[in-house]
Amino acid sequence: VKILAIESSCDDTGAAVIVDGKVLSNRIANQKVHEEYGGVVPELASRAHQENIVPVVDVALQMAGVKKEELSAIAFTQSPGLIGSLLVGSCFAKSMAMALNIPLIGVHHMQAHVLANFIDDPKPDFPFICLTVSGGHTQIVLCESPLKMRVIGETLDDAAGEAFDKSAKLLGLPYPGGPLIDKYAKEGNPLRFKFPEPRIPELNFSFSGLKTSILYFLQENQQKDPEFIQNNLADICASIQHRIISILLNKLVKATEETGVRDVAIAGGVSANSGLRAALEEYGKKHHWRTFIPKFEYCTDNAGMIAITAYYKYLAGDFVSLDAVPTARAAF
Ligand code: ATP
Ligand code: FE
Repeated sequence: VKILAIESSCDDTGAAVIVDGKVLSNRIANQKVHEEYGGVVPELASRAHQENIVPVVDVALQMAGVKKEELSAIAFTQSPGLIGSLLVGSCFAKSMAMALNIPLIGVHHMQAHVLANFIDDPKPDFPFICLTVSGGHTQIVLCESPLKMRVIGETLDDAAGEAFDKSAKLLGLPYPGGPLIDKYAKEGNPLRFKFPEPRIPELNFSFSGLKTSILYFLQENQQKDPEFIQNNLADICASIQHRIISILLNKLVKATEETGVRDVAIAGGVSANSGLRAALEEYGKKHHWRTFIPKFEYCTDNAGMIAITAYYKYLAGDFVSLDAVPTARAAF
């Protein structure tokens, strides 16, 4: 089974080739155009996808050593995401499927983030719990089989990635600031500044209060010392990161206690965070979990995760027709 998978939900254009369940190539074209705007500009994202998609697909096929005539199916991200971006990937996928007369597979981007944990070995056993932390979502997902998963907790406001990016913005760091907070936090003291942990019922999250408390904290300290941020950047970043991680992991502990599940994975862009990766290992030891973290390149948006999901869908005979429409929002 040879599948070409295309990811275009946000601002990165990805293509990957999977052969019999093994990802042989995983290409991504990052869009630089958004940096100067401090966030993703949807119209510019769609245009950049149009420019990038043909070369990215070409290289992915070449690197995998697979000719397009050999493909068994074409997969694409169907939802959720920016509608203009999704349309570019879906139209391209449909055209190729039609030209080659092969089936089309529509993939849910958040399900794919979870299944990134199945690209390499060791893989989690079912049932397992995945904490998906990305730019637009924060979810605790209970997975019963590759295609049967259920959200048992999620954020009521900002996503974890947004909490990182918005905190970074308050610190005057460029977008996306998550990786920069990670970088500066490495040199800092995570216990120097205390930010509040919100009390949110059940397995849900909230990050908007944290953002407000950081804003007031910075304003107050900058009144006393205009250079406060510059002089304390590492400690501030480490303290913010420490709080985001403790909010996430305390809910994960609660989820494992309530379900009795012991295989615990993380996924999504924020799972690239070195502090979160280390904390998962630490909590795992303490609570006797088997822990799983995707390889770095499969954490942030990528087509490899779309490819592995498509592989399971292919085996299940789960195809979509050529009139399948992408949607900006969708449950799974
Ligand atoms: P979604 O998957 O919810 O649609 P998305 O696809 O835009 O959102 P991802 O690409 O999965 O999100 O993740 C991007 C987010 O991950 C950004 O908010 C970014 O700041 C954050 N991120 C990436 N690397 C790190 C890191 N090392 N530390 C903290 N945050 C990070
Ligand atoms: Fe994503």
